[in-house]
Amino acid sequence: MPKANETRGVARPSFVADGMLGDVARWLRIMGYDTLYFGDMDDGRILESSAERVLLTSDEQLYRRALKLGIDAFLVPGGALSEKLRTIVRRYGLSSASSGSRCTSCNGVLVPASRERIKSSKEAPPPLVEEVWACPDCGKLYWKGSHWKGIGKALQELAEPST
Ligand SMILES: [Zn+2]
Repeated sequence: MPKANETRGVARPSFVADGMLGDVARWLRIMGYDTLYFGDMDDGRILESSAERVLLTSDEQLYRRALKLGIDAFLVPGGALSEKLRTIVRRYGLSSASSGSRCTSCNGVLVPASRERIKSSKEAPPPLVEEVWACPDCGKLYWKGSHWKGIGKALQELAEPST
């Protein structure tokens, strides 16, 4: 059985999520996938942004429009968030190998935060945290706090086949 991160040579897909899929977009970003999401984006703009991305939508009409335009689109089924994610993970062979590399708020790629940056931020990581990352786009700081355990567990469950 191949490990999740043995996907060398395969381009990592990037996504656009429609307005209904904000929670899906957030989780794809947690997994490290480039995912555009604007809650107020109209269909025309969503389709425009999907030219080189996979469009994730739960709107069947939008899905059909996208297919007609030759856009790689995926109709996300209704149901629980975990089920939606699982279907996407399976369909696109996603892994959590790069999880924690993106800003969940704005999709920016995180960089190690400098001391100055941490000092000047309103957010204060606990003193014992060794690694802190910053989003260069919105300035948000990230570190692996206690909630990360829960996230890691959820990611692991997503990658496992549910038999
Ligand atoms: Zn950000």
